[in-house]
Amino acid sequence: MDLMEYQGKELFRQHGVPTTPRGEIAETPPEARSQAAAMGVPVMVKAQVLTGGRGKAGGVKYCADAEAAEEAAKAILGLDIKGHLVKRVLVEPASDIAEEYYLSVLHDRVSKGYKVIASVEGGVEIEEVNRTQPEKVVKADLDPTKPFGLERARVIISEAAFPAEVVEESAELLVKLYEGFVGADATLFEVNPLIRTEDGSIIALDSKVTIDDSALFRHPELEGWGEVAGGDDLEVAARKQGLQYVKLDGDIGVMGNGAGLVMSTLDVVNQAGGHPANFLDAGGGASAESMAAGIAFVLSDPDVEAMLINIFGGITRCDDVARGVLGAIEQIGELRQDLVVRLDGTNAEEGRRILEEADHPKLVPAAKMNEAAEQAVALAKDALGAEL
Ligand code: GDP
Ligand code: MG
Repeated sequence: MDLMEYQGKELFRQHGVPTTPRGEIAETPPEARSQAAAMGVPVMVKAQVLTGGRGKAGGVKYCADAEAAEEAAKAILGLDIKGHLVKRVLVEPASDIAEEYYLSVLHDRVSKGYKVIASVEGGVEIEEVNRTQPEKVVKADLDPTKPFGLERARVIISEAAFPAEVVEESAELLVKLYEGFVGADATLFEVNPLIRTEDGSIIALDSKVTIDDSALFRHPELEGWGEVAGGDDLEVAARKQGLQYVKLDGDIGVMGNGAGLVMSTLDVVNQAGGHPANFLDAGGGASAESMAAGIAFVLSDPDVEAMLINIFGGITRCDDVARGVLGAIEQIGELRQDLVVRLDGTNAEEGRRILEEADHPKLVPAAKMNEAAEQAVALAKDALGAEL
């Protein structure tokens, strides 16, 4: 689960990571104006969306007075930043920036541990700094089974060449950041920029936080944070239903059993010249009920013009799947989209026979993955053509 900047900073505060004074969320320009007037100017008005680079996109504005805050909110609300519509802005007291640094703690798949990244070049994308001035980006591997304390933090901060007078305070902040990262079961705690203010304190000006979804059950305090943060509306709905679903930008709905098979299915749809509308893993043991829920969900997406179901029967029996598919169709009633169902593996022939006997006008049984993908692509094109 990704958090918005203001949520990430709230989490920072809970874990003792120094950050900006608490601001408020506005959904309309007048709201931003009165909030600015009440908290005292100058303020920053900042787009709250789940993507970085807001500054560059015009989503972060310094406002000297309340009227400017209203104007800023007017300009920022409704902006499209890298495909994310701005529905909320954060209004918070502006900070006086002397210098901008970079600091993050993250899961590192390569070392199978944690990693700290630190740089004196903050406020710009760290990938960019890493490309142009790699010597300015310090990466330190941490062993998750060992404690992490001030001593090591000082070494990392010093190696990153932070100015001597801020090393101690930055190291203290890094330890808090690390403790917060572990405590929140996060996979990423990123601060960009970490700033030295004109009066010499070190605070997190921005936050990028990702929480491990598998650990959310341990964090009742974060309940509801994902709904606010949103993401794609369909993804929010899918999460509520417990579906392993990712929205994509094409028009062919995809469901399969097993994440690897679904990934391959996306590739095959692409090879057939189509564009998948989503990833949906019905799970290894795909039951009739989970099939039905998945089909109904995918077909509810207005972008979906045709759907491809790709099942490889192992423990799952294809005849059960076929009955599940028919059950789902019956529940949904009138189908708008065509459904290509590819069955292979245990009892596949029996499964295809069941589908063929049902003789449903929208149902296309298939045995081979490539052919199934080609059929789905053709049907989606027909459907689009018919709409135009
Ligand atoms: P991002 O572009 O999405 O990463 O958004 P940030 O929150 O990092 O803001 C982008 C840039 O705006 C920062 O690097 C700062 O230069 C500037 N900025 C953000 N907040 C403040 C503030 O309170 N005061 C000042 N002076 N500049 C700010
Ligand atoms: Mg930033």
